[in-house]
Amino acid sequence: MKKILVIEDEDNIRSFVVINLKRAGYTVVEAASGEEAFEVLAKNPDVILMVVDLMLPGIDGYEICRRVRASGSNMGIVMLTARSQEMDKVTGLMTGADDYITKPFSPAELTARIDALMRRLGGAGSASDEIVCGPFSLSLKSRTVMKNGVRIELTQVEYLIMKLFLENPNRALSREEILKAVWGQEYFGDLKIVDVNIRRLRLKIETTPASPQFIETVWGYGYKWDA
Ligand code: CA
Repeated sequence: MKKILVIEDEDNIRSFVVINLKRAGYTVVEAASGEEAFEVLAKNPDVILMVVDLMLPGIDGYEICRRVRASGSNMGIVMLTARSQEMDKVTGLMTGADDYITKPFSPAELTARIDALMRRLGGAGSASDEIVCGPFSLSLKSRTVMKNGVRIELTQVEYLIMKLFLENPNRALSREEILKAVWGQEYFGDLKIVDVNIRRLRLKIETTPASPQFIETVWGYGYKWDA
């Protein structure tokens, strides 16, 4: 079983995270403080990922990361931050977090980010192997995408772009990043190929491709999936 530890002192946020991760097929243990987290970890050595709130009374999220990494653990760590703490991302990365989720976040964003990290860790994502985001659902098994239950015919490249977006909702992705993730490190073609494929993908998935609702352009940078 894929076991996740959720550390958050605010009861309502903690139960929101726990419920949604359970719904996505994970086994979840929880703690309301850093001190409690280490007790739970001692009893559950099979935890492979933890979701840590940055602001905790006592031992904070950074310190938890630091201690977990110092113990030699390579478990996945996702940090929860408030919007006002976005500048702290760099500090978080330095203390060993793998990813961030900014509050407030949707269940779709939460599970997409956790699934993505699980896959990077070598797990297979949630039990359903499906990423659901708004009207879209992407099946990792059949490599297909549905919108409102209707299959959208996509090329493999378009599928990979969709997968990248749904695994990184609300995050601005540079064109270089998209090129590398979809065409591979070895690809030396022009960045325009990204724009060409995005344009085609918009025609297939957007209701009004001229004013896209899902794939936003981030001028001078790249694109962002609006979840
Ligand atoms: Ca908190």
